[in-house]
Amino acid sequence: MTAARPAAAPLPATPDLRGLLLPDLTDLVRALGAPAYRGRQIARWVYGCGVEDISEMTDLPITFRERLGEAARIGTLAVRRSTDAADGSATKLLAACEDGQTVECVLMRFDDGRRSACVSTQAGCAMGCAFCATGLGGFARNLSAGEIISQALAIRARADRRLSNVVFMGMGEPLANYEATVRAARILAAPWGLGIGVRHLTISTVGLVPQIRRLAGEGLQITLAVSLHAPTDALRRPLVPVTERYPIADLIAACRDYLAATGRRLTFEYVLIDGVNDGDAEGRALGRLLRGLLCHVNVIPLNPVPGIPLRRPAVGRVRAFARCVRDAGIPVTVRIERGTEIQAACGQLRLADGSGRASRWTPAPPPGGVPVPASGGARTHGGEGPA
Ligand code: SAH
Ligand code: SF4
Repeated sequence: MTAARPAAAPLPATPDLRGLLLPDLTDLVRALGAPAYRGRQIARWVYGCGVEDISEMTDLPITFRERLGEAARIGTLAVRRSTDAADGSATKLLAACEDGQTVECVLMRFDDGRRSACVSTQAGCAMGCAFCATGLGGFARNLSAGEIISQALAIRARADRRLSNVVFMGMGEPLANYEATVRAARILAAPWGLGIGVRHLTISTVGLVPQIRRLAGEGLQITLAVSLHAPTDALRRPLVPVTERYPIADLIAACRDYLAATGRRLTFEYVLIDGVNDGDAEGRALGRLLRGLLCHVNVIPLNPVPGIPLRRPAVGRVRAFARCVRDAGIPVTVRIERGTEIQAACGQLRLADGSGRASRWTPAPPPGGVPVPASGGARTHGGEGPA
């Protein structure tokens, strides 16, 4: 008797150790008849050491390792390609999941010594923002918590210093993959996990209101970066279609509640598009909208995407816009973008691999990032600096 085979190989049914919280690991080892402290030992191997095989857990009895190997597995990503920015400020990885889906993640190196990982939460994205290549390519599937953690481990393994920050700013909408994102955040933050500390995590969201409220109730002090891109619904709707469901007034109210619950300063991202949302009037309106909120605005000059007829404004316009927002009393940073040819190359990682359409790739340094010197060659990622 033969059953019809699905097109893609099904993922193994056993849980991926890389997606388990310490209490899950403890439950697992207890179910296998081992003492609870084995859970902590496994966490040390999986998250502390980043081992890829249970046989490497050499302080566990061999018989227990065998039982563990039958009950669980360690999910891995196969890094297919690694691309360095010319000035060494970033390394981008293209990695294949076990079912062949590819995701990109980035190691960002900052002059002050910080090392930040930018991770993807979905293969593709369903939100359809007008300027975004990931959205252009459509949605494939959610990534598991283990697949998100695997990206951070792959980045950490390539970092010359301690991984200090993780930003959820890669492919996909983190809050549309809520459970896996929050689970990954807990593992990244925990001392038994990657030990990064929750205050060094940033989630960037297109603005899913119910999930922002839910996140506010998690008791996690994660920095929230909200992709606003326009001060009015009329202007935002064509750029960010989800505005139809969650108008700006509701979004700002949810942000206010997030701030009240976490005490974390909010970031608003604003991709600046020539002749679309970059006028002084929009800058002033943005300032008015955000007045009184503990926040700052990260202005991101558009990274042009092949096939999308939107342009990046001239530098003078970027500065003028930033000035309007700042004059309204809102702190502003402008992400300095250089080396658009490398940005293009980045999208081509997936293209060249034949496993996906070009993806936009402009992860931001964490809020409050250091200004990047104006020289130093093409960069993959912008730093933030005064306009
Ligand atoms: N889905 C989430 C996180 C991933 S996108 C979100 O939208 O926030 C990360 C950031 O890159 C977002 O602020 C997004 O608006 C921005 N971005 C997308 N396409 C871009 C482009 N072509 N140029 C510059 N920034 C872009
Ligand atoms: Fe999705 Fe973010 Fe791109 Fe919008 S900007 S399509 S939410 S990844």
